[in-house]
Amino acid sequence: MRLDRFLSQNTPHGRRGIRPLLSACRVSVDGHITRDPDHQITSFSQVTLDGKTLQAGTEAVYLMLHKPAGFLSATSDPVHPTVMELLHPRDHPEQLHIAGRLDRASTGLLILTNDGRWSRDLTNPSDEHHQGIGKTYLVDTAEPITEETKIRFEQGIYFAYEDLTTGPADLQIISPTRCELTIYEGRYHQIKRMFHAVGNRVTALHRTSIGPIHLDPALDPGESRRLHREETDWLI
Ligand code: URA
Repeated sequence: MRLDRFLSQNTPHGRRGIRPLLSACRVSVDGHITRDPDHQITSFSQVTLDGKTLQAGTEAVYLMLHKPAGFLSATSDPVHPTVMELLHPRDHPEQLHIAGRLDRASTGLLILTNDGRWSRDLTNPSDEHHQGIGKTYLVDTAEPITEETKIRFEQGIYFAYEDLTTGPADLQIISPTRCELTIYEGRYHQIKRMFHAVGNRVTALHRTSIGPIHLDPALDPGESRRLHREETDWLI
């Protein structure tokens, strides 16, 4: 919400009293004096008036996890272990949600956060003309990957169930049954269904990057770390 609204809800100063507080440089947000009544306040913002805390702000957490096979991208499940069980309590797993799931058998880069706005921007770009953020996967297949597949993926694959054609995807053949594939959307089982549509079958799927965020090679399967500032700020 706007800073002026936040102040009128959280101080005894009536609406008319807010602008003078701001002009007198009595209000700080995240440690900086703020005079702009439009400044956006979220649950993560720390707000003070005359140095006294009005809102401490919750800590924003952004994590990358090297997801191992066999763990569900879910917050809880009665049958299978979930990725949440792999996280350290200091990262407040109970507050986190997953920004872009991976299937249970898939491995690689999984991002978790408690910042709903940030994860929305990561997973569905608001501007419909803006191509989505690229997600890159190493894909192993049962049958050899052909040049024809590369062309079909560039052109888009028709999914009858949703009645849509997938956007252009970039496929680089690495070996007869291994490729690097970048897709810019995230439909249900998208990559498995794309290969199925060309008569092939995915045997292993490993996500290596989402936009400029690359799976840290120092992380073993099951390990996680906080994102660095430059890994979060490009979206803000
Ligand atoms: N596409 C799939 O089919 N599975 C995943 O886990 C990710 C993308």
